[in-house]
Amino acid sequence: MLKSVGYMENVEVFDVPGKGRGLRATKEVWAGDVLFAEPSFAAVVFDSMAEQVCHNCFRRQPKLHRCGQCKFAQYCNRTCQRAAWEEHKLECAAVKAFGKVPNENIRLAARILWRLDKEGGVVSDTQLTSLDDLENHVSDMTEEDLKDLKIDIHNFLDYWPHNSRQHKVEEISHILGVINCNGFSMSDQRGLNAVGVGLFPNLCLVNHDCWPNCTVILNNGNQTAVNTLFHTQRRIELRALGKISVGEELMVAYVDFLNVSSERKRLLKQQYFFDCTCKHCTEHIKDDLMLAGKEVDGKKASEEEVKEVMEYSLKMLEKIDKARTEGNYHEVVKICRECLEKQEQVLADTHIYMLRVLSTASEVLAYLQFMEEAATYARKMVEGYMKLYHPNNAALGMGTMRAGVTHWQAGLIEVGHSMICKAYAILMVTHGPTHPITKDLEAMRTQTEMELRLFQQNEYVYHSMREAALKNQPMSLRAEPVVEGIKNLFRRK
Ligand SMILES: [Zn+2]
Ligand SMILES: [Zn+2]
Ligand SMILES: [Zn+2]
Repeated sequence: MLKSVGYMENVEVFDVPGKGRGLRATKEVWAGDVLFAEPSFAAVVFDSMAEQVCHNCFRRQPKLHRCGQCKFAQYCNRTCQRAAWEEHKLECAAVKAFGKVPNENIRLAARILWRLDKEGGVVSDTQLTSLDDLENHVSDMTEEDLKDLKIDIHNFLDYWPHNSRQHKVEEISHILGVINCNGFSMSDQRGLNAVGVGLFPNLCLVNHDCWPNCTVILNNGNQTAVNTLFHTQRRIELRALGKISVGEELMVAYVDFLNVSSERKRLLKQQYFFDCTCKHCTEHIKDDLMLAGKEVDGKKASEEEVKEVMEYSLKMLEKIDKARTEGNYHEVVKICRECLEKQEQVLADTHIYMLRVLSTASEVLAYLQFMEEAATYARKMVEGYMKLYHPNNAALGMGTMRAGVTHWQAGLIEVGHSMICKAYAILMVTHGPTHPITKDLEAMRTQTEMELRLFQQNEYVYHSMREAALKNQPMSLRAEPVVEGIKNLFRRK
C-alpha cells in the first residue's frame, strides 16, 4: 500500500452560523502554505477521456496500455496499472460481466460503494467527515435532474454485481447526489482539461467565497517510481493565497470570479443550491469594471452603446463557440477579429465579454502560429485579468503563463520572460514547487533568462538562434487550443 498523504493538523471542523459545517485554520499560515493534502476517496476518468488518459494518474498519454481483462481501463505502464488495481479489481470483473461500460457517475458511485463496503464511511483518522454526513441535495433537484438520477439508479442496479453487498435505493441515490454536487473536476498534468471526477471528503467541507483565501489544486503526483523517495500520490492540496490567521474560516471559489455577481449567484444556486452572501456579491465589487464602457479623454461611451455592443458580443461568442467545437479555427479567428474591432471602440479593457474574446483569439491564433497577433491579444487579456482577479488567482497565473509563452514564441523575449517570471511567482503559491506545471515554468524561466541575456548582448545573434531554440522546446502546450481551463471547482453535469 502507498503511504497516505492525508494530514489534517492545520485545520478543524466547526459550525458556521447559517451555513452548516466549515473548516477553519488551527495554525497561522502564509501564501503558498498547504493546509491539507488529501488523496481521493475514489475517482474515475470521464467516459469521453477513457481512451486518452491513464486511469491511475490521470495524465494524458499518447500511448496507453489496456487492461487485458476488461479491455476498458488504460494505463501509462505497469507501475500505474499495479497502483490502480486495488481500486479497479472489482470494477474490472463487473465491467467484464456487464459486457459494457456504464457512465462515469455510475462507475464512480460503484467505486465509492465498494470502498465503503470494505473500509466503512471513514477510511482514515485524517478523514474529517463520514460520507453519510455529506449533503446530497436530492430534495433540491429539478424534475429533469431527478429523472436523470432515476435512470442512473436503474443502470447502477443493472451493473452492480450480485455477489457484491446489496444496497438500498436510498443509499445509491445518496451517493449519486453527493457526486452531483461534490464531485471534484480532475485535470490532466497540464491543468488545462477536466479529464475525470473524484470525491474528496475533506474538501467537501470547505465553503465557497467568490474572493477566497484558499485555492485547491490537483497534483497528479510522481508516478515514476513506487518505493522511492520521489514517488508521490495523486492528491488535492488546499493552499493558502495569503496570510490566514488562527480561527479564520477556509474558503475556496466554486466558480470562476470573471462573471458579474448576479451571474455567479445564479450559477452557485443552480449547481450548489445556496445563495452566495460573500462580500463581493453583496457589495457587487468589481461588477462595474466587468461591464464598463470605454473612456476616451474623459468622455465615456454611452449606456446604449455599451448595451448594444454587449448584445452583439453575446451573439458573436455563441458563433465563436460553435466554430470552435467544429474545429473551424480560421473561422474562429475571423469572428474574433471582427468582434474585437467593435468591442475595442466601446468596451473598457476590463469588460468580461472582451476578455472572453481575447482569450479565445490569443489561444487559437497561437495554435495557428500567428504569434505576434496572438501575443498582442494575450497581453491585453492579462492586463484585464490583473485588474479583476485576486493577485494569486490560479487562472491569472495560467493566463499569464500562456501569454508569456506566446510572447516568447513571437520573439518578444523581454515581455515574454517577465510574464513567465510573474506566472512562476503565482504558480509557486497556487500549485506549489513540485507541481508539473510549475516545474515546466521553472525550466522556461531559466531558458528565457538565458535568451534575454543573449538578446541584450547581441540582438542579431539572438534572432538567428531563436528559431533553433524554439524547435527544442516542449510543444505540449500547443497540442490543441484549449482555452479556458477548468472554471468550475466541482464538476458540472
Ligand atoms: Zn499513469
Ligand atoms: Zn480491467
Ligand atoms: Zn459571492
